[in-house]
This record gives sequence, C-alpha cells and structure tokens, in this order.
Amino acid sequence: MTADLAQARDILRHTFGHADFRGRQAEVIAEVLAGNSAVAVLPTGGGKSLCYQIPSLMRPGLGLVISPLIALMTDQVAGLRQSGVAAARLDSNIDPADRVETLRQIEAGKLDLLYVSPEGLNGLMDRLRQVPLALIAIDEAHCVSQWGHDFRPDYRSLGRLADIFPKVPRLAVTATADGRTLADIASELRLTTARTFVASFARPELALSAERKRGPAAKRVLDLVKARPARSGIIYSGSRDGTESLAVSLREAGVPALAYHAGLDRQLRTERLEGFLAAETAVMVATIAFGMGVDKPDVRYVIHADPPASIEAYWQEVGRAGRDGEPAEGITLYSTADMAWAYRRLEGRDMEAEVKSVQARKVRQLYALLDGAGCRAAGVRRYFGEEKVEPCGQCDACLGTLATLDGTLSAQKALSAVHRMGGRFGRGRLVDHLLGKTKDPSAFEAGLSTFGIGQELGPPAWRDLVDQLLFDGLLREDPNDGRPLIGLGDGEAVRAVYRGEHKVLVRQSLLEDTSAKAKRPRKAAVNVGEGDQVLFDALRAWRSGQARTQHVPPYVIFPDRTLIEIAALRPATLPALAEVSGIGDSKLKRYGTAVLEVVGRY
Ligand code: ADP
Ligand code: ZN
Repeated sequence: MTADLAQARDILRHTFGHADFRGRQAEVIAEVLAGNSAVAVLPTGGGKSLCYQIPSLMRPGLGLVISPLIALMTDQVAGLRQSGVAAARLDSNIDPADRVETLRQIEAGKLDLLYVSPEGLNGLMDRLRQVPLALIAIDEAHCVSQWGHDFRPDYRSLGRLADIFPKVPRLAVTATADGRTLADIASELRLTTARTFVASFARPELALSAERKRGPAAKRVLDLVKARPARSGIIYSGSRDGTESLAVSLREAGVPALAYHAGLDRQLRTERLEGFLAAETAVMVATIAFGMGVDKPDVRYVIHADPPASIEAYWQEVGRAGRDGEPAEGITLYSTADMAWAYRRLEGRDMEAEVKSVQARKVRQLYALLDGAGCRAAGVRRYFGEEKVEPCGQCDACLGTLATLDGTLSAQKALSAVHRMGGRFGRGRLVDHLLGKTKDPSAFEAGLSTFGIGQELGPPAWRDLVDQLLFDGLLREDPNDGRPLIGLGDGEAVRAVYRGEHKVLVRQSLLEDTSAKAKRPRKAAVNVGEGDQVLFDALRAWRSGQARTQHVPPYVIFPDRTLIEIAALRPATLPALAEVSGIGDSKLKRYGTAVLEVVGRY
C-alpha cells in the first residue's frame, strides 16, 4: 500500500470509524489522490461518498461536490459534521445569513467540503476560481444522460468545468452502469480519458422475489406489510390514486403509512419525506416521484404493487432497501395487464423509432426477468454486463419456490390453437377452446383439431400458462379497445417451440393451488442477536432522543449496524467502544459516555 493510501485508511478509521475499504473504494481514492479524474460506478449503498470525501480531506483546498438533491446534501452535510468534518452546502433552501457565513469560510480556506446543486454553481463560479480546489465530485452523474430516467438538463453544462479547472481532478460517481449512460457521462462531462471503475452490482443483503398478481394487488400488499411489523418499507404504486387508496387501507389496518406523489404540493411532499427519514419505522406508499433523494438506510423492504419500468429502474427502486447492509427484501407484483400497459404507453410516446425499440426491449427484458425461473439477482447483474455471476442463494428462484416442470407439450398445444383460431379471441375463449368447453362453438371452431385437446390442465393452470407465453413473447396481446385479442409472438421463437428445440419450463407453483403462498413465513429482519434485543431497543430509544434534539435523522447519529454491534459486544470502556464499526474519533467523544451508560444499565 502506498503512503497515500495508508493515510486514507487512517482517515477511514479515525474519522469515519470503518475498519477497511470496500469494493473498489481504495482504487478510486488512489486514482484521485494521484491527481487524476475518474468515473466510478458503484451500486447503491456501495459507499460512493467516501470516494470523494476522503480525498477532499487529504488534498489541499476545497472539495466541491455537485449533487442534484437537496435532501441528500442535507443528510450528508449533517453526517459529516457529526464526524467532525468541516462541511457546508449552498442551495436554494439556505438562509442568507448561513450563506454569507459559508462564503466567508470558503474564502478563508476553512471548509473541507462544499455541496452545491448544479443550478447553484453558476452564481459561485467567480468565487471558486479564486480558491484552491481539492477535487470536483459529480454525484449521480447519470443525470447527464437522456438515456437514463433521471435526466437533468442542468447537468449538461458541467462539462465546462474541464476548461475552467483543468488541473483539478474530477470524479463522476453513479450507480447506473448501462453502456449508453456511461458513454454519455464520459463524453458530456469530458471524462473520455479518465479511468472508469465499475464495481460488482451484487447486493447480497437483498432477498428478491416476484409474483404474479392474483386478485386485487392492494389486498396482497396489505398482507405482505402486515407480515412485516415494526419495519420501514416503501411501496411503489403506478398511479397517484393508487398510492392514496393503498395508504388509506394500510392506515385502517393500523400501519403508519403515508402517500407520496408529484400531485401533492411541495410543502406536503417535503414534510412527508422528512417524516419518513426521521421515523424509526414508517411506510411510504409512493409513485416513482419518490426517488433519488430517498436515502433512508434502514428501509427493510420495497414492494412494487405495480412493476417498475425497466430492469434499471427495478434495481434502483429495490436498491432503496437495505442500504445499511442489513437483510432486506424486494417484492414485485406484476401481471400481463401491466406488461400490455407498458407497451401501450410506449406506443403513444412521441420519440424516435430507435429509442422506442430500445425501450420496448427493456420492457421485454424486465418481464422475462420477473416471470422467469432463474436467480433474480444474477439476472440483473448479467443484464448490467457482469460475467461469471453466481446465483444469490436467497431469492425465490434460488430458494426453490419456483421449481419448474417441462410444459413444452402444453405450450405447443396453446400456440397451435392460437394459430388455428387466427388470433381472433381473447384469453378466456382460448382456454375454453383448449378444454373443449366453449359455449356455443361455431362449426368452424368445433371442427378445429385443437378443440378440446388440453385436458391435462385445469382452467387456472391454462390461464397461467397462457400468461407465461405472453411474458416470454411467444404470444402477444393486441389491446383491441380493452378486449385484448391473443396472437402469435416472435415467429422464430414460436417455431423453435413447435420443433421442440426450445423447452418451455413452467413453474410448478403456478400449476398448483397458490393460496398457501401467502402464508409462507418470511425471514429477513435486522440481525439482532436473540439476547440483545432489549439492549438494542434501548439504544434505539436513546438514538431517537438524540436525533430529535439535534433535528437530524436517527441514522446520522449511528446506523443500525453500529447499534447491533454495540448490543452484541456490550463494550464497557471507551477503547472497546471505539472498535465498533461506524464509531470514529468524533462520535466517540460526542456520544461514547452516553452509550456506555445505556449499555451499563443492561
Ligand atoms: P452510496 O454509494 O449509495 O452513495 P454511501 O456513500 O451513502 O453509499 O454509503 C452507504 C453506507 O455504507 C453508509 O452508511 C457508509 O457509512 C457505509 N460505508 C461506506 N464505506 C464503508 C466501508 N468502507 N466500510 C463500512 N461501511 C462503509
Ligand atoms: Zn437468487
């Protein structure tokens, strides 16, 4: 290890209280310390912020961080101050007196880190030119790309920083790794010659599952939430009305749930976001307007009451669970109607044909993942371009709840029935046809060789199989004004099934009664040791009190992980407490005695 990196690790330990670097943090930090620009792609919760915070503390001058979200900046600045770092932010919410004070500190060279929004940067340029800069970090760098889902036109102008500060290393960080977005980041931000560090997209703390909607999604969501008491969660719904009505049913069931969507006024949105961040347990029912700023580390589950828009969106959204590294769940509900709606919405969009076909492929890939029987996490990581990916061992597929049977023969029957019927009927009629139960069949239909050939399955199993063929793209649905008609899908793939070259694996569970599924017990809670719960709860209560008096979210004081370790180790002295991960020198001084006092009581 170089001397620089040894010093960086010292800061990691003493200021931030972590034992060692994770993933590719050390490499990124070394690159910036060498004075070079870089692009770092680390998964959500992967520790991107330390990659610029530590070099800012080590290199002479001010570390400038450009971040799109005020909520995120506020939390980071509060956290840094807790750790004894001189940090400040300048954004539209700062009152004039604080602003003047921060500007004074910049000029006096007293600040280590300054957070600004891209809009706020313009008014600061003249001042920044006159002080030495340690580095420029561009957080959430994917906002520069139109291909992503968080495009911010303001980010486009950040390329000019390359000319204005040619000698200052610039570090772009993001959690989005798809190729087009990365290419955009490099070209728009003028980082084409910078090294790119891409970490693994594994999120080992996430247990993923996906299930087809059976009956009203709201009812299923209610059961899922009630089975997870005293934990914070996010529920994504596709519509504003959906969020409101779900939140009402949850509250009626005694769950403290709030709705969040872009139709609420700004004030109310801010209040609800802040309430969610500050609470020990809270459930937010939201549209995807509830997005990037949501940096609550102890979210234990994300439930998609309606499916996400793409695999990128899926990973970002479920990625908001378990950011503290403790076990968390991502549960997605989906249906063929959701898929049909996603395609229809694309049809109506005014965009270039090429963009449209890229988006349509994304929809296809998402549903293939959700309805597929392979490891969920591995599927996502391969999608992001990772090679040699091992199964995660904890998703529904890995746990064997998606055991499959060879359903090729039944699939061939369904495909040929659709072919013969000429794509003129919907799903219900198709199933009746296969079973030979059509009421008043025409002479034409009754005369077809496929009429009644599907006696091996019952009606629910046939409906499920038809849905699967839709998800697989072997069949497709034509909306036909709300009375969807079923036709054959991709010709080459259909022929491969006919010829028996492509096997159709059907989930066993779909061919059985599924009512037992709702009762399946779930694991995934924070790993508090059996005998440690009482102390852990006491520590949480102490932390809540601290958070309230200081007006910061609880995790800014200590993350859950730190409290869990304290509860397990029961340190009796300050040096023993300092060994716990997440306790740096500053927090030890500030809270050490109080924490020991709580431990001493149990
Ligand atoms: P993101 O990449 O999503 O911006 P953060 O920078 O917010 O992630 O870090 C996520 C969490 O991981 C924080 O609680 C942070 O303190 C913790 N963390 C970061 N680096 C390390 C490390 N090397 N060891 C232990 N915890 C770390
Ligand atoms: Zn898995």
